[in-house]
Amino acid sequence: MYHPDILDNPASLRHPESCPALILNADYTPLSYYPLSLWPWQTAIKAVFLDKVDIIDSYDRAVHSPSFTMQIPSVIALRQYVKPSEYPAFTRFNLFLRDKFACQYCGSEANLTFDHVVPRRQGGGTSWENVTTACLQCNLKKGGRTPREAHMQLMLNPHRPTSWQLQERGRAFPPNYLHESWHDWLYWDIELEE
Ligand SMILES: [Zn+2]
Repeated sequence: MYHPDILDNPASLRHPESCPALILNADYTPLSYYPLSLWPWQTAIKAVFLDKVDIIDSYDRAVHSPSFTMQIPSVIALRQYVKPSEYPAFTRFNLFLRDKFACQYCGSEANLTFDHVVPRRQGGGTSWENVTTACLQCNLKKGGRTPREAHMQLMLNPHRPTSWQLQERGRAFPPNYLHESWHDWLYWDIELEE
């Protein structure tokens, strides 16, 4: 079975000039939202030639070789369905997204960092269940203590979100760059971009 890797969306791939292709699953939903499933155009064209994907939409730009000319695909769909994972990857972005980009102690949206609720020194792990979004001030104030020791109250206890929950959150936080041909295939409210 053809199992596509989802790249970690390096900044270069999100740049319009790099012509990334949005990858849809065989049911025409994005293969992944966080990170958004994108491939470099080279990978997309290779998959087309391997008959692994269908081209749904294309960029205006084309690539040329001595033997062929091809519009660069902007949206492609896998021919074989890949079961999406129930839980999203534990990444910085996803953690901020879970916490709506707000400090879970005071609600501030500035100078955000991560806080180990149970400090590492006291055996707290780096996991969905023990890391929360905190502003720098709250982080410094809390220091190497538990919330109880520091007399600080968490708004929400950290938990591992499902992919579905994170997608719901993501409606309010669309990525910076979306090619127009992707709009029909994405879940979030595009009018926020206007
Ligand atoms: Zn704070």
